[in-house]
Amino acid sequence: MQKRRINKKRMITVLSLFSMIVLLTAYALIMAFNSDKNKTGQNTPNTTQTQQPTETPTPAPTETPEVTPGPAGTENPDSTGTPADDPAETGKPQELIIRTDYENFQPNEAGDIPIVMFHNFIEAYTEKTEKEFTTTFGEFEQLLETLYNEGYRLISMQDFIDCNISVPAGFRPMVFTFDDGTPGQFNLIEENGELKVNPKSAAGVMIEFSKKHPDFGLKGIFYVNMDKGDKTFEGAGTLEERFEILLSYGFELGNHTWGHVDYTEAKNNSAERIQESLGKNQEKLEEILPGFRFYSLALPFGSLPENKNLRPLLKDGIYNGKEYHHETIMAVGAEPSVPSVSVKYNGNYVRRIRAQGREPVACDLTWWLPKMTSSRMFISDGDPYTIVVPKTKEADVNTEKLGNKSLITY
Ligand SMILES: [Zn+2]
Repeated sequence: MQKRRINKKRMITVLSLFSMIVLLTAYALIMAFNSDKNKTGQNTPNTTQTQQPTETPTPAPTETPEVTPGPAGTENPDSTGTPADDPAETGKPQELIIRTDYENFQPNEAGDIPIVMFHNFIEAYTEKTEKEFTTTFGEFEQLLETLYNEGYRLISMQDFIDCNISVPAGFRPMVFTFDDGTPGQFNLIEENGELKVNPKSAAGVMIEFSKKHPDFGLKGIFYVNMDKGDKTFEGAGTLEERFEILLSYGFELGNHTWGHVDYTEAKNNSAERIQESLGKNQEKLEEILPGFRFYSLALPFGSLPENKNLRPLLKDGIYNGKEYHHETIMAVGAEPSVPSVSVKYNGNYVRRIRAQGREPVACDLTWWLPKMTSSRMFISDGDPYTIVVPKTKEADVNTEKLGNKSLITY
């Protein structure tokens, strides 16, 4: 017995020595790897909020400063294996990954941000499927993969409005918008008495994708027409349950008018009609979600009232004694938007790019992707409190829009 105990003790000592050596070796290897790797868009394995760049020399930028997104598949160790079905988990904010060695990765926070517009999603095309506004779930999943690999990361509409861009340094922000509240975008199914997001929906595909790539971001704004009633996100659950579950993942709701109003039609060219179409939509949503206020409007058909004097009512108005206010008014076409801190920004008509449908068309997202070069696009420095631009782009920034952010040029 005595001998065995001693052996056991010895064994424990040997084992702990061994594991210490293993740990030290692993630590040394990690340090060596960290100082070696190009710091672009890496996720930090520790819990600190910011990652300051080290003094490690990085290769000088080539003639056309091409920002290489971080290697695909580098997962945050904290998030691997986390069941992403819990909205609190999937909506978890990512750690900030900030860099200040600007010359090396050429951030430009006055560059363009693509705002993608989606409509319908289905399982498979048929001969009757219209050609421009419908995507299959499979193609959508492919698109997410492409966007992820090309260095795009999703931000919310609210963060676009505030220019609070916290995508990792070297990456490009992108906004997803969904019009009309179609069931292919989002709907609920009932499983064992519980309501779940249908995996055969755009939101379902995104939730699944975020398990694989939590750093892609689970964001998007859904523009709804409350006159559709129960037809919005048609499926299981009440309208209230649908909205609440959608919002619980961190998605947003936007105004798409009561009645999908075409403001170019003569009958809609009056102050009363405009305020009713916007205020009533808010009123009806507020009946379901008390206190809810829209902050973004997507114009049906992208159409503005002919009478220019009426256009301010799209932004601010009053209906049934209640005010409404839209920070952004979204158009339909047809190019990437400038960010809200740009001198060229007009929140009353923000451009979007339509996602490719069954058939590609000019100016859709597929057409745009190769044209969205790093010299044109918004490249983040990772810090939402700074706006970093090359000296040559300094004049693009509207300093009055900076608020509590500081402008840095290099
Ligand atoms: Zn619409």
